[in-house]
Amino acid sequence: MAQVQRMSRLMVKTLRDDPADAETLNHKLLVRAGYVRRTAAGIWTWLPLGKKVYENVARVVREEMDAIGGQEVLLPALLPKEPYEASGRYEEYGDLLFRLKDRKGSEYLLGPTHEEIFTQVVKDQCSSYKDLPVILYQIQTKYRDEARPRAGVLRGREFQMKDSYSFDTTDEGLAEAYALHRAAYQRIFERLGLDYRIVSAVSGAMGGSASEEFLAPAPAGEDTFVDCPECDYAANTEAVTFALKPVSTDGHPAVEELDTPDTPTIETLAEHLGVPASATLKNLLVKVDGEIVAVGVPGDREVDLGKLGEHLAPATVELVTAEDFEGRDDLVRGYVGPQGLEKVRYLADPRVAPGTSWITGANKADTHARNVVCGRDFEVDDYLDVVVVEAGDPCPACGAGLKLDRAIEIGHIFQLGRKYADTFQLDVLGQQGKPVRVTMGSYGIGVSRAVAALVEQTADEQGLCWSKEIAPADVHIVAAGKAVQTELALSVAEQLNAAGVRVLVDDRAGVSPGVKFTDAELIGVPTILVAGRRSADGVVEVKDRRTGEREELTVSEAVARLT
Ligand code: ATP
Ligand code: MG
Ligand code: MG
Ligand code: MG
Repeated sequence: MAQVQRMSRLMVKTLRDDPADAETLNHKLLVRAGYVRRTAAGIWTWLPLGKKVYENVARVVREEMDAIGGQEVLLPALLPKEPYEASGRYEEYGDLLFRLKDRKGSEYLLGPTHEEIFTQVVKDQCSSYKDLPVILYQIQTKYRDEARPRAGVLRGREFQMKDSYSFDTTDEGLAEAYALHRAAYQRIFERLGLDYRIVSAVSGAMGGSASEEFLAPAPAGEDTFVDCPECDYAANTEAVTFALKPVSTDGHPAVEELDTPDTPTIETLAEHLGVPASATLKNLLVKVDGEIVAVGVPGDREVDLGKLGEHLAPATVELVTAEDFEGRDDLVRGYVGPQGLEKVRYLADPRVAPGTSWITGANKADTHARNVVCGRDFEVDDYLDVVVVEAGDPCPACGAGLKLDRAIEIGHIFQLGRKYADTFQLDVLGQQGKPVRVTMGSYGIGVSRAVAALVEQTADEQGLCWSKEIAPADVHIVAAGKAVQTELALSVAEQLNAAGVRVLVDDRAGVSPGVKFTDAELIGVPTILVAGRRSADGVVEVKDRRTGEREELTVSEAVARLT
């Protein structure tokens, strides 16, 4: 039987004030309530209460993964670099990877995600179609050297992920494994009590085709998604494609192509357009000798005619990170082409000044290039499809005005196909006796991030506010007074505990009732039971943490109610 948790013995130090460097609710409250402690930027220690909540989330994830036939394994986090070199991700991940060497100089990395290693495991363990399909999963620590580990537990450099991988011989099998995961994720997030949306997403560094994200709307989120109020359409803005509306924000008519007889000067262009030479235009494509030299698009990129001369001269292009991006019009970001889309593919260009790191590093995620020229520095198949989504833009499915919202990415599912199987030649013997190439899916949930997302969505002015399934206890008993109250509190605690209710009892001596009440609200257990003024009569108060509703009950009534 579980033990009653006594605050007098529990290592929990609550704080009245927010930590100085905290920007997000989860950071402030999880630290103040004594759930976690920051060890270094993006690196967190889970203290006793936090560890309980974390384990409850992990348990829900585990139960639902087991229910779809997933088999739990545990792979190492310290990994040889060769498999990641073979897949190309050793390069592709760039600065995001933690790299290290052993004493002999062999190179390793700390795993950011494990497609390569799981592919090798299955290649080793499965040889026939009879060994498949298989779903493997782990709940494990991942490492990514994130550029901005500022959002508390939401974005760690060390964090916990449930990652699973499906292996099938047929496309139908993969579609089925994907559907199983999608449904399991819905059950998981419902049980956790997270408000979420499923949106179409970009596969990014994973590769592969179909991919959806589970997004938990919250202001602290770092993803932006569009949501149609009229139909089912929802997508991460990274994945949105639709034709550019002909809009004019600058009095200039909609997109127009200019043909000038000679090498253009700014003056001839301005004259041709009938605008001042200093104008800034958003609906403009400039081609010189059949080559696009500048593009302005509504909402984001504009062409400053006065600076067009610079565009024509060799440019110095430098790399900037997402951090520098805010509010900068001269940076190119998140552009999508007509195909369904990745980020823009940057092209090597001999005219880019030598010595810039831009060409080799340009495909890094979350990296943007400054001073680039569309069509010259990167490929735009059709500039009309270069869009930046804004609220009110038409839904590609039904035309209604889209809503734009912030959200936290809590899960991501991918149909990878044969990308990794091709790299590692993962075949099994098929029914016809010939080798068959295996097809894969990969599926992630941020387990530690889910804890933080719950805080962002459910906390209130008083503090944390957990649902029963993931709270560190079911009932928080406050002994508000002296010996008689403490005695009653402990006795109720034992009775509830005996009935299988998880109890946290605040039996601290020398701590005022006021402080105990404040701490109980902050810690956020769903039911608060107070042994106070009427303890001598065997009457306690039962309070719902979320609604604030309270009721006086005799001990036996209270025990009956809560068991
Ligand atoms: P993000 O867009 O937030 O950087 P991601 O798309 O890079 O996340 P995936 O590679 O899809 O993340 O990983 C699967 C899941 O792992 C994510 O959906 C998210 O819930 C979680 N996750 C990813 N990065 C972090 C992190 N730095 N800290 C905590 N959880 C993370
Ligand atoms: Mg990421
Ligand atoms: Mg993402
Ligand atoms: Mg993702």
